[in-house]
Amino acid sequence: MLSIQSLVKVYPGPVAALQGIDLDVPLGMFGLLGPNGAGKSTLMRILAGLLEPTSGRVTLDGEDVLARPERLRARLGYLPQDFGFYPHLTGEQMLVHLLRLKGVSAPVGQQKLAGELLERVNLSYAARRKVKAYSGGMRQRLGIAQAIAGDPRLLIVDEPTAGLDPEERLRFYHLLAELAEGRTVILSTHIVEDVAVLCPRFTVIRDGRLIAHTTPREARAALDGAIFEGTVTPAELPALRRARAVTQAILVEGRHRVRVHDASGAPPPGFEPATPTLEDAYLVMMRASGGANGAPAAGAPEPARTGRAS
Ligand code: ADP
Ligand code: MG
Repeated sequence: MLSIQSLVKVYPGPVAALQGIDLDVPLGMFGLLGPNGAGKSTLMRILAGLLEPTSGRVTLDGEDVLARPERLRARLGYLPQDFGFYPHLTGEQMLVHLLRLKGVSAPVGQQKLAGELLERVNLSYAARRKVKAYSGGMRQRLGIAQAIAGDPRLLIVDEPTAGLDPEERLRFYHLLAELAEGRTVILSTHIVEDVAVLCPRFTVIRDGRLIAHTTPREARAALDGAIFEGTVTPAELPALRRARAVTQAILVEGRHRVRVHDASGAPPPGFEPATPTLEDAYLVMMRASGGANGAPAAGAPEPARTGRAS
């Protein structure tokens, strides 16, 4: 079990990126969901032993990881948000290089280990292609290959699905789900779907504070009977947004399919009860933490979208 206690990080500025995080992370896939600037990467870098916190404690199976980061490293795999590649190397060369840097011991030889890891992430077919020719999804899978070298107990992946197209994202979901068997995987993301698809438990972070610690099912159930859906014209939408807690507005054939949260059970005229989604739950959490007027704070996801309802 990974245990985080009273973790604080203040950057020069000062910027209070983490304002006291307390969290126990169980085995399996665990989601860290929050908007840009929430403090996700800061938390991930501290957990990976790459950044020193201002104060607080982190233990893995009872052992203090901040005091002895070198002991952690052997049990840790980390895919940073801004994973750098050497475009002119082949995938295999890049991976061998990373294994050396990481100091992974390979009794079978690093070349052979790289081959096995590429196989594990379904990249064998592209082992001898240059990384610059890789798609976003292939790069992320190469990043995972280096992270899982040495079969780490704890895998930390920071916004790995951002920028992947839907098909690549789906492939990546399958890979992550496989990897979460028998180990702890912390997945940071600002994409609610990532959590809905992958995470039996998750926590929501905003402005360096945890504002929820729940399961997708519980989060949705908390909104039972309080989500309503209806259609409004583009001209009507701004007034509705001012008057109501809009969780989603999707343009469909020139009109807005709108979902609103109303805990008192008094929906706008013509709106019908709807089944809550995790997206609704996330937006409601963001509003609830946004201050007395209920307005979403800067950095909260923009609910207006085009395209199909999910
Ligand atoms: P997230 O990954 O959730 O987008 P970050 O952890 O990257 O959030 O950032 C949290 C806050 O800390 C933001 O306000 C960001 O601007 C700030 N921040 C991040 N890194 C630094 C740094 N090296 N120096 C100063 N401020 C930083
Ligand atoms: Mg980040």
